[in-house]
Amino acid sequence: MAAPETVNLLIKARWIVPVVPENRVFENCALAIRGGVIQALVPQSEADKRFEAEQVINLGNHVLMPGLVNAHGHAAMSLLRGIADDLPLKEWLHDHIWPAEGQWVNEDMVRDGTELAMAEMIRSGTTCFSDMYFFPEQAAQAAQQAHMRAQIAFPILDFATAWGSGPEEYFRKGLALHDDFRASNLITVGFGPHSPYTMSDEPLKRVATLAQELDAPIHIHLHETAKEVAESLEQHGKRPTQRLADLGLLSPLTQCVHMTQVDDTDVALLSESGAHVVHCPESNLKLASGFCPVQTLLDAGINVALGTDGAASNNDLDLMSEMKTAALLAKAVSGRAEALDAHSALRMATLGGARALGLEDQIGSLEVGKAADITAVELSELAAQPVYNPVSQLVYTNSGHRVTHVWVAGRAVLLSRQLQTLNERELIGKSRWWRQQISQ
Ligand SMILES: [Zn+2]
Repeated sequence: MAAPETVNLLIKARWIVPVVPENRVFENCALAIRGGVIQALVPQSEADKRFEAEQVINLGNHVLMPGLVNAHGHAAMSLLRGIADDLPLKEWLHDHIWPAEGQWVNEDMVRDGTELAMAEMIRSGTTCFSDMYFFPEQAAQAAQQAHMRAQIAFPILDFATAWGSGPEEYFRKGLALHDDFRASNLITVGFGPHSPYTMSDEPLKRVATLAQELDAPIHIHLHETAKEVAESLEQHGKRPTQRLADLGLLSPLTQCVHMTQVDDTDVALLSESGAHVVHCPESNLKLASGFCPVQTLLDAGINVALGTDGAASNNDLDLMSEMKTAALLAKAVSGRAEALDAHSALRMATLGGARALGLEDQIGSLEVGKAADITAVELSELAAQPVYNPVSQLVYTNSGHRVTHVWVAGRAVLLSRQLQTLNERELIGKSRWWRQQISQ
């Protein structure tokens, strides 16, 4: 008999949903992890014979799934959660969010807000998030320190903000940040042109050129509202998606966030270019922005990822409940109950996000050779009974609060519901302090 293979960690679970292969649930299996990478997914009886593990974790009432990928957000805006609700996008931004940001956004606010957001995301099963906000250096450092995987899209707009005087400075600082994190295995730095309606053609073209040169992602708000589309038709004589295509901005590197008000030409442009869509159903619902026709996009072969958007327009960062909203909304929008079934919703929140972020070879499924970015969800409580189908419980019964363990690249960031890399009490204290400052 061959000598046992040494691994760092063996996780035994009642159920494992690997996402690849599709639509499968493995029972009483184990994941073996070495050097932060998945070595095997095998029956527990085989794992006991084959591996000698430094640590064994038994999760007898749990589902193991790939860590969730929150493909759109503004983490630091968690400190503005609940500051203004029940308003349409334009009024909400112009009269409330932008003035508050103008006064309060600085390095400390971004650092503290990003940590608050990461703590909430980890606790509800997210291992990787995309972020677009000012002072992205702070967000990148905070993520690296908390051992979370992140795509940091540095913001670019036509006008000055607390972070810079205009496009020239945004590009300079952003490219320096890209350079600083080139060797990081957790952080990807990409371009965050805010939206077509806050940017002129020249900086957008520059984004397209530089992103191709650096093979770096582009993350942009697109077709968030009907108004945005109408104004673009008036000013540019074309829809925003067409304008971006004409500027060379649509490619497999591009993540188009929101995509409500989608017509056939938009679908064709997205599908021909290989661009990705990031669906943010709760933010779109809350701001009454419109509906993203998710099933139509999937049927056209377009990759769709899932995001919460910032906590100021959601108002939580629980991607597990976002999956439920996405699945329910897809049925309402398409008029078909079979649209975005539970497995498809889970795939969108994991592999869909990984593909959009260009990380498909590293994360998004529990496959041998991929990073051990793993979430464990306990299904023993009353409201999860009885368990006929664990994927149904994950998607349709609000499982965010049932997350017990989270690993990123094989390292635990949540163990038995306790954060390992962030201090929960300290973060609550800091958040209260910011509320006092901001509401003065
Ligand atoms: Zn957003």
